Amino acid sequence: MQHLTCDVLVIGSGAAGIRAAIAAKEKGVDVMVISKASAGKGTCTILSGGVFAGTRDGASTETHLKRTLKSGRGINQPELAKILADEGPERLKEMVKWGVDGEFHKGYLFTHGRPTIWGEGIINCLVRKANALGVRFLSSLFVVDLKADGGATGVKVFSIDANEWLTIAARAAVLATGGSGALYLRHDNPKRILGDGYCLALKAGAVLQDMEFVQFYPLGLAEPGSPPFLIAPRLADFGAMYNNQNEDIHEKYDITERPAGERARDRLSQALFTETYREANEVWLDLRSVSDSDWNIDPFSASTRIIFGERYGAKHRPVRIAPLAHHVMGGVCTDPMGATSVAGLYAAGEVTGGLHGANRMGGNALTQTVVFGARAGQAAAAWSKSIPDKQLEAVSRHLNVSGMDSREGKKELNTASVMAHLRDILWKDGGIVRNGRGLSRLVGEIDAMHQDASAMPVTGHARQIQNTLELRFAARTALLILQAALQREESRGAHFREDFPNQDDANWKGHLQVRLSKDGKMDWSFLKVGNETL
Ligand SMILES: Cc1cc2nc3c(=O)[nH]c(=O)nc-3n(C[C@H](O)[C@H](O)[C@H](O)COP(=O)(O)OP(=O)(O)OC[C@H]3O[C@@H](n4cnc5c(N)ncnc54)[C@H](O)[C@@H]3O)c2cc1C
Repeated sequence: MQHLTCDVLVIGSGAAGIRAAIAAKEKGVDVMVISKASAGKGTCTILSGGVFAGTRDGASTETHLKRTLKSGRGINQPELAKILADEGPERLKEMVKWGVDGEFHKGYLFTHGRPTIWGEGIINCLVRKANALGVRFLSSLFVVDLKADGGATGVKVFSIDANEWLTIAARAAVLATGGSGALYLRHDNPKRILGDGYCLALKAGAVLQDMEFVQFYPLGLAEPGSPPFLIAPRLADFGAMYNNQNEDIHEKYDITERPAGERARDRLSQALFTETYREANEVWLDLRSVSDSDWNIDPFSASTRIIFGERYGAKHRPVRIAPLAHHVMGGVCTDPMGATSVAGLYAAGEVTGGLHGANRMGGNALTQTVVFGARAGQAAAAWSKSIPDKQLEAVSRHLNVSGMDSREGKKELNTASVMAHLRDILWKDGGIVRNGRGLSRLVGEIDAMHQDASAMPVTGHARQIQNTLELRFAARTALLILQAALQREESRGAHFREDFPNQDDANWKGHLQVRLSKDGKMDWSFLKVGNETL
């Protein structure tokens, strides 16, 4: 069995992971980036709209901070939001200097790209920079277990291409595995973004928080047979949005923020879900009278004129729309440098939780990847220099993959159909509109699913092994989301409980946190927050 070592191991090759790798490499250490697919592929970053919040000249840093905190409904970690607003402009300028093609427009950097991989330019730029510095990229490596030991980190990895196991030991590690949007029936994430990182971090001893806050993007194309295409928020505001009874959706649900798809993602998603799934209505977006200059309202909207306007027909007929699971606000707790509660383990990007609070402002996720990716990379490099060779050797000795390639499991399941069922039930009762009864039922059902998946043999061809292990991560992540959602008896941001429809600051202004107890059970606690000022 192959065993590799490095100073800093980065798990995940989206923008957060690659930016962390660049920062670590610039500190003169040996850096390796591994991911399930090849560098940048199968990431949310490459599928993203490529829109970064944060201005070039820093003039409206305060406005950016204010909007971020307003979106987060009182529970962003304010120190993280301030760093995002303060350092965002510099990090974005740097990206442009490194060759990202884009333009600054009204407080955002719109990178230029082609639908539906607008983020390709971001990935290409970061990979080019990392390669030039000498970062090592290894692809098709699926991390299935992570152990921290005396400040060093070891991982067990399945090589999907080679269908074999290997181990990697590092003096420091950065977890940048993204979120878990693909857990839901309707989603816009790559299909293997299923929450692996939350499970790896939790098992290694890290604390997670805010897992109940899953963001849905309201403006998803829902024409039969169409892909989950994102409609630009400012473009949608020019059109008419109505249901089969011809009721105007914004009026009916009193949604006054504009762009609604950016500033009121939570409430617009709830409105659309209620219409389409609870009231069996359809919701239509009619853009036929939108002028060409309005299609060009911003570079993201302009880039969709041909594909959305012509190929999907939005210029010629009303189109059906429905929300899509998009982003997870919750995740691994870190300090401002990305340090988790596990010595030597850092985290950055969507796998972390705390910056966005209960609802993320559009454009902040990409800015988060580069601001906090850079911080985590720097901190991991500094940490790695404090870990002596003997500690790396000790971690290497303790790593073994026995028991992974097991034929002992008793259960035989069709992973594809179990995953499809998981997505379906999560969408109906664990997503945009929730209630206690539905959540309790789901916790029971998905707990049983997790136990079944854990009893499956890890054997067969490479994709079969990957699917089995991913199903375990997916079910466990779903449980984290559901158990948090069940406990939070209020509505706030992206978490809407129809049985507790109001925000309840007296009892629920704070973070639900979870860690694993010594006997492997989830140990939940609530961290109240005050009205901190910066
Ligand atoms: C369609 C879409 C459009 C979006 N548009 C915008 C936008 O315009 N602006 C904005 O701010 N945000 C946007 N977002 C959100 C934003 O793109 C993401 O939050 C961000 O890109 C996440 O970056 P990341 O590096 O943390 O994770 P990702 O880019 O998702 O990368 C995760 C990496 O982790 C790897 N990985 C996961 N598990 C494992 C494992 N077990 N072993 C090995 N590797 C693993 C994956 O292979 C991948 O390389 C959008 C999201 C989507 C889905």
